[in-house]
Amino acid sequence: MPNSVLNSEKAIVVFSGGQDSTTCLFYAKRHFKEVELVTFNYGQRHNTEIEVASKIAKDQGLKHHILDMSLLSQLTPNALTKHDMKIETGEDGIPNTFVPARNLLFLSFAGALAYQVNAKHIITGVCETDFSGYPDCRDSFIKSMNVTLSLSMDRDFVIHTPLMWLDKTQTWELSDELGVLDYVRHNTLTCYNGIIGDGCGECPACKLRQRGLHQYLEQKGDASL
Ligand SMILES: [Zn+2]
Repeated sequence: MPNSVLNSEKAIVVFSGGQDSTTCLFYAKRHFKEVELVTFNYGQRHNTEIEVASKIAKDQGLKHHILDMSLLSQLTPNALTKHDMKIETGEDGIPNTFVPARNLLFLSFAGALAYQVNAKHIITGVCETDFSGYPDCRDSFIKSMNVTLSLSMDRDFVIHTPLMWLDKTQTWELSDELGVLDYVRHNTLTCYNGIIGDGCGECPACKLRQRGLHQYLEQKGDASL
């Protein structure tokens, strides 16, 4: 979309500083004139996640809202049943700090914020393709949430999910189309061990991310990996 037809309405991006939401940030900048970011602080695996998100927001000159969601830790399995349980990541890539309906809660807060800052559009990097294990990341849920948010505040919100039907390879392709593949590759944090960029290479998140990047670069005929 050429700059001349940028949508002048405001968009809020649900932003974690990871590959997916950073790609969404650039997607938002491409399509909307005014973009703000919201990050949820809920005791992430690494505090680095908040720092990475803040740095990217600053780099891009975007207003960044950080909302305290630490109450979510009261709903994790280790808080409810096993107080001394170690934070671990299962083979499926789902950490045992997972809170059911987390995305429902996040989108509710993003909606309340969007209302306050007068943003009609909410952009989130949820995706059915890679993480179909989370029911509140599915397209049917997002559509239902869109209706619910609009009814709850009597506003016409539009939730955008540019990554919904993309696999990791296609997400890299999108960042390349947006001209930010290198930026996304070197400045975002996906790794469960808190290593920015290409990460530790060993954890499930790194493996998924690298497999996608390899495939995309290979497909593009770029051997620079
Ligand atoms: Zn890793």
